[in-house]
Amino acid sequence: MNIHEYQAKQLLAQFGVAVPAGQPCKTVSEAKAAADKIFAAGHKLAVVKSQIHAGGRGKGVFKDGFKGGVKLGKSADEATAHAQAMLGNTLITKQTGPEGRVVSTVLVAAAEDIKKEFYLAVLLDRANSRPLIMASTEGGVDIEEVAEKTPEKIIKEHIDPALGFQPWQGRKIAAALGLKGDLANQAGKLLAGVYKTWWECDAAMVEINPLCICVGPDGKEKLIAVDAKIGLDDNALYRHKDIQEMRDLAEESPLEIEASKFNLNYIKLDGSIACLVNGAGLAMATMDIIQHFGANPANFLDVGGGASKDQVTAAFKIILSDPSVKAIFVNIFGGIMDCNVIATGIVAAVKETGLKLPLVVRLEGNNVVAGKKTLAESGLTLITGDSMADAAQKVVKTVAA
Ligand code: GDP
Ligand code: MG
Repeated sequence: MNIHEYQAKQLLAQFGVAVPAGQPCKTVSEAKAAADKIFAAGHKLAVVKSQIHAGGRGKGVFKDGFKGGVKLGKSADEATAHAQAMLGNTLITKQTGPEGRVVSTVLVAAAEDIKKEFYLAVLLDRANSRPLIMASTEGGVDIEEVAEKTPEKIIKEHIDPALGFQPWQGRKIAAALGLKGDLANQAGKLLAGVYKTWWECDAAMVEINPLCICVGPDGKEKLIAVDAKIGLDDNALYRHKDIQEMRDLAEESPLEIEASKFNLNYIKLDGSIACLVNGAGLAMATMDIIQHFGANPANFLDVGGGASKDQVTAAFKIILSDPSVKAIFVNIFGGIMDCNVIATGIVAAVKETGLKLPLVVRLEGNNVVAGKKTLAESGLTLITGDSMADAAQKVVKTVAA
């Protein structure tokens, strides 16, 4: 699960990381009140930031041509005008795809006086089975580009999960970033806080881009997390009630939400054949064999080990609400799964949804005889396959024709 920048900053602040004070606003009047407060407090500049689950907002463009999902305002009026232009508008960035994302919240904050931008992230390095801190002096820009063109500019420091983050590692990273004196001390504290946020929240990734040296009104230099992105491990979310509440369903694909309601795993792909399978391994094999015979999967929907008739019906409805689906391939190997439950579910779903698309079914395993009998006696026009290859060829043929 991903969360918004303002929510990520709330979590970081809980672990002692310095973040700019800001206010999430859902309406123009809320944004105006927040901006008025900032300028009344004596700040000279405010920043208005679109809250969507995608990066590259600064360089993004709205559907109506308005440029920039992150904008500075020199007065409360200017900041409010930016908020008005963003709220309800669709922002397209490098990461959103051409359809963009609707902005329903903006973060209004006093703008920091930025002197230098760094990159910082904590993630799990699967190759080393360890948490990894990545940092770079090349902040604020596309880190993928830095990794490709100047990989030597990315500092990597692995953390021993049993020992946790060590102060000497903070000093090492600070030195590699060229930070000295008080800034190096601040970096040590900030790095420890960012690592702790990652660890305690069961995050998959915490990314701060940019991490900035900012100059305060007193002329002092401070290290502040100006942007923040946190991705969480869904399997550990049950341990974090407060984080669960940060979920923003508007940012997720409606079909994936529908699938998660029924405990189904649904993944949307680009092709035309919908795949209803049980188990991730069979899903991979099914996609491979469809491609092998010359077509592409539109999605895969994994009903898991012990699906009920209702889950199968829900699965069919989800598949059918995708207009790019031209045929359905049900490929079930009943290990735990009872093939007759699947068959009964298919019959109910086809009748309920008035299915018009070609449907190819391959059932094998537990209670398969009863399952095939249910399908045969249903009177439905469906195509059956004897083996996985046979069924795959048949379904590919229906979309090729
Ligand atoms: P992103 O484009 O989605 O990654 O959004 P960011 O929060 O990283 O903002 C993009 C850029 O806007 C940053 O790299 C900064 O240069 C600038 N920016 C963001 N917040 C502030 C701020 O408080 N003050 C100033 N001066 N610039 C900011
Ligand atoms: Mg950023």
